[in-house]
Amino acid sequence: MIYDVIVIGAGSMGIAAGYYLAKSGKNVLMLDAFDPPHEEGSHHGETRIIRFAYGEGASYVPFVKRAGELWKELETLTDETLFLQTGVMNVGEENHSFIQNVKASAKLYDLALEQYSAAEAKEKWPGLSLPDHYVACFEPTAGVLRVEACIRAYRKLALEAGATLHTNEKVQSIKAGSVVRVQTAKNVYEAKQLIVTAGAWATELLQTLDITIPVTPTRKTFAWFEADEQLYGEDIFPAYCFEFADSSYYGFPSIDGAGLKLGRHDGGEAINPNAPLRPFAEHDAVDLQNFIQRFMPQHGALKYGKTCKYSMTPDEDFIIDFLPKHQNIVIAAGFSGHGFKFSSAVGEVLADLVLNGKSKQDLSLFKVSRFHAQ
Ligand SMILES: Cc1cc2nc3c(=O)[nH]c(=O)nc-3n(C[C@H](O)[C@H](O)[C@H](O)COP(=O)(O)OP(=O)(O)OC[C@H]3O[C@@H](n4cnc5c(N)ncnc54)[C@H](O)[C@@H]3O)c2cc1C
Repeated sequence: MIYDVIVIGAGSMGIAAGYYLAKSGKNVLMLDAFDPPHEEGSHHGETRIIRFAYGEGASYVPFVKRAGELWKELETLTDETLFLQTGVMNVGEENHSFIQNVKASAKLYDLALEQYSAAEAKEKWPGLSLPDHYVACFEPTAGVLRVEACIRAYRKLALEAGATLHTNEKVQSIKAGSVVRVQTAKNVYEAKQLIVTAGAWATELLQTLDITIPVTPTRKTFAWFEADEQLYGEDIFPAYCFEFADSSYYGFPSIDGAGLKLGRHDGGEAINPNAPLRPFAEHDAVDLQNFIQRFMPQHGALKYGKTCKYSMTPDEDFIIDFLPKHQNIVIAAGFSGHGFKFSSAVGEVLADLVLNGKSKQDLSLFKVSRFHAQ
């Protein structure tokens, strides 16, 4: 049989796309190398920040606002709590470009944002310690998504809407044409249109079409620390982004008593996505311990750490586009460590691109042609 659409990769982006396509009546096959949600890609570790006053640039705001609406809709449809409104604080020197972008985004789109001096922030959150010249821009309506639960929710709805999902079936190659052919170890599948949402494996997969995109799979580490719930519990302490001249960190209050969670956003080691990730090690913890000791000094001991994969583009903006030479193949990749919050809206956009050839969202920032992909 020839499917209307095949989606390769039913992770953060692909599972949402599969749902919106199946809901619109398309005959959809989703293929995944694992069984989402799983711990092999970019979507494990319990929590993801969603913030609307966007430090990466105000042009992301309409997209993330739409994502926020769709997360609420998903909660209603599944009767699950997926979003926790913990608020998010953006911390750094006032003239840092990220902090400037947060403030500009809030002003342009009339988003709630409260600015605190270091002393005011310490009074509001007694578990926090900041140098005097730092500011905390607090977005009270932002918060945290329960990442695996979000994927489970879309998976359930996609299957109910009639999508087919084959798990533990890795795609080995793609052959383009008016009917696209997708080869796995078990079978060859055909479809009129194809969506590639393969996360850290996108570059490898597109190479089977002789297309090179500059998306680099990268090893990232994150960890949980024991925390006093009176200081760092989810009802008291917000999620956070700290921006320095040469580094940036993000993290979460203690949610469900799990402890303070912390990761470093910049840096990381380029990897082969098929090789087992080097496990979280003592030296991975040192940098995180130094950060937490300085800014949340009343934290407790390191509980444990984990590893995960980012897919980095050179400019850290996403790729969401038709492939220039193949107008029935759409790619969404290179989410560069800040994509999960958008995944509901990315799913909707991908469905729109396949169904209508265009989207209501402005996708000009995400064009593959900016890299002159071959
Ligand atoms: C530690 C960490 C913290 C993060 N924090 C945040 C945050 O706070 N806020 C935020 O917005 N974002 C955050 N992100 C980023 C966000 O999680 C990612 O941008 C997002 O999950 C990427 O989604 P994806 O669909 O591209 O990849 P994935 O969710 O990994 O999905 C890709 C899927 O494709 C499948 N696949 C790959 N190759 C094949 C193949 N050949 N055949 C079949 N299936 C295949 C994989 O099995 C996988 O299921 C974080 C990421 C990490 C790792």
